[in-house]
Amino acid sequence: MPASAPLIEGKDLALSYGQQLVLDRVSLKVSPGEIVTVVGPNGAGKTTLLKILLGLALPDAGRIQSKPNLRIGYVPQKLDIAPTLPLSAKRFLQMAAPQGNRAIEAALKRVGAPKVLETPLLGLSGGELQRVLLARALLRNPELLVLDEPVRGVDLAGQADLYELIADLRKQMGLGVIMVSHDLHLVMQATDEVLCLNGHVCCHGHPEAVSRHPEFVALFGPRVAETMALYPHHHDHVHK
Ligand code: ADP
Repeated sequence: MPASAPLIEGKDLALSYGQQLVLDRVSLKVSPGEIVTVVGPNGAGKTTLLKILLGLALPDAGRIQSKPNLRIGYVPQKLDIAPTLPLSAKRFLQMAAPQGNRAIEAALKRVGAPKVLETPLLGLSGGELQRVLLARALLRNPELLVLDEPVRGVDLAGQADLYELIADLRKQMGLGVIMVSHDLHLVMQATDEVLCLNGHVCCHGHPEAVSRHPEFVALFGPRVAETMALYPHHHDHVHK
């Protein structure tokens, strides 16, 4: 498989819950080193789409094609353990890492949170918790990173730092990244492809083009579109 072949590709994906058509012929692909950002209003099917890519939900129609044995790291929207458990970051990561403590320390260093090893999860700031979740995803040695609103619960300054970190990881590790985000102006600089979803794909393409698309403007309003135009997209890497 050539390096530029997509890591994962969904074609004409459709899924209904009961009578509700949640995804309607959605197609997308993520290649190595590429960041794809999924935007759309609440209930647009963004999380459902990620679930299908992760194999956690089956589409009613369409198909998923992925690189054989694709390694995926997933950063969920919320922590999927009881928040009352008195668990340190290290113990939490040990549950995900058969490689042992050195790999855990390396992963925490990589995400810029080397000092939280012994901190209880409950004592972490929003930004630190997201970094720990990112470290957990990296411990799988992923080729594709899937993130569902990775800066939820993080203060404004921390949000920009986290997006920068994700872009750095992409660059250093050549990861393909697909993420759901609401922070359009913050993610645009590092995004290669925007998928604007509202059940169906309203529009997709490079950030500037999407920000001018009438369906995007109708969904997010002219102010968001104008703000995005103020943050030009700098393509600082080359796709193979
Ligand atoms: P988004 O992430 O864009 O906010 P979701 O993918 O979470 O949207 O949900 C899309 C729609 O599907 C919503 O209307 C939601 O209520 C519905 N939905 C999601 N998961 C389920 C489920 N397991 N059972 C029934 N309806 C669901």
